[in-house]
Amino acid sequence: MTTQFETVIGLEVHVELKTKTKIFCGCSTQFGAPPNTNVCPVCLGHPGTLPVLNREAVELALKAALALNCRINQDCKFDRKNYFYPDLPKGYQISQYDQPIGEDGWVEIDVNGERKRIGIIRVHLEEDAGKSMHAPDGSHSLVDYNRTGVPLIEIVSKPDIRSPEEARLYLEAIRSIMQYCDVSDCRMEEGSLRCDANISLRPVGETKFGEKTELKNINSFRFVQKALEYEVQRQTEVLSSGGSVEQETRRFDEATQTTVSMRTKEEAHDYRYFPEPDLVRLQVDDAWLARVRDSLPELPLQKRDRYEREFNLPAYDAGVLTSDIGVATYFEAVVAAGADPKAASNWVMTDVLGYVNAQGLSIQEAPVSPAQLAGLIAEVNKGTISIKQARDVFKIMCETGKDAPTVIREHGFEQISDEGALAAIIDEVIANNPKSVQDYLNGKEKALGALVGQTMKATKGKANPAVVNKMILERIGK
Ligand SMILES: [Zn+2]
Repeated sequence: MTTQFETVIGLEVHVELKTKTKIFCGCSTQFGAPPNTNVCPVCLGHPGTLPVLNREAVELALKAALALNCRINQDCKFDRKNYFYPDLPKGYQISQYDQPIGEDGWVEIDVNGERKRIGIIRVHLEEDAGKSMHAPDGSHSLVDYNRTGVPLIEIVSKPDIRSPEEARLYLEAIRSIMQYCDVSDCRMEEGSLRCDANISLRPVGETKFGEKTELKNINSFRFVQKALEYEVQRQTEVLSSGGSVEQETRRFDEATQTTVSMRTKEEAHDYRYFPEPDLVRLQVDDAWLARVRDSLPELPLQKRDRYEREFNLPAYDAGVLTSDIGVATYFEAVVAAGADPKAASNWVMTDVLGYVNAQGLSIQEAPVSPAQLAGLIAEVNKGTISIKQARDVFKIMCETGKDAPTVIREHGFEQISDEGALAAIIDEVIANNPKSVQDYLNGKEKALGALVGQTMKATKGKANPAVVNKMILERIGK
């Protein structure tokens, strides 16, 4: 019998905070500036300089920790994590060791319709390091210190994640919460959200953890799942053939879609942490904490539950609409402009997201505003146009930026609702489809649909289905 293994995953997520300036100096945090232009003696680690803590960074870290349901350590400290690396000019990173700002929190993810809680061990505040760039031919390396000192939080999960898919869902939940709280823009491609994963396998039923490997610097949501799937397969093969997994650090190779070894346990760091002597203890008083707590927005899962309850939306719709704060805001604006929530949901999920995704735009950049979309939905409800015509009107609205009524008028989209104009066509449809008429009279409700369909076809989709329905019944009704 082959042994069945259980996967155990824990994620360490680094999130860059959205402050204007760095955590211990006044340099800008702007992404994409020319190399080594956002630097000063403090973040370059010159001797004799002193760090000054950025209050906004603490505020955003508090907000993030609260949103992740953490207990806040109102009295905590910073520590030095000592190691030498070219992108770390001080020779140490100011971080938090045994007294993180937040501890013992959780987030919920939705796994196949079931809510699952993933524990969070800690959320701590620290500074980012710079960026090394290595010439492809290995001839030289360059260092950019613009990122040195950008405020970061590290969010460490408990080993509660049981599959690569859950890992991706967890990471998406973290990103969504950070974006809702406006603490980070969470752009993985710009490195403002980064993820390391610890993964081990153990025989089903075993309570002790197996030997783990650490996957470093995974830079997309898709790769998180892919890298972990590969690692599950690799470790399963090692264990099934009687081998043992070596504790090591590996990285995901995008070209081969596999993980490759970077370093083994023997090279593990000893960081020699000690309290940072250049900073006083960080103290968050009750009033500050209360103010940050009050500033927390409605979070993704709360919003999702409310959409189901208040707007009577299916769970699927509520999930899609709330996964991104921009989409949720757009949807709510469409409803606020008078649209029916389910109609608004259909339009946003299908047409609006379809359009902006195809164009590579964010929903905030959608050429059709929420009010304009509500206007289009109103035209469908009034019967001016059919839903099918509305889809074409929407496309033209996207290209021209014009309102629905204008597009309908200019392109002759009006539905035919005039009974005089429809009478002859309907009489002909009835005359040509005696079987459908008889079927309907014999109680087959569906046959009416066939007659309406024939009329729609004869008018090239322009007839108002409600009017057609009514007129057919007047003629053949029981
Ligand atoms: Zn600086």
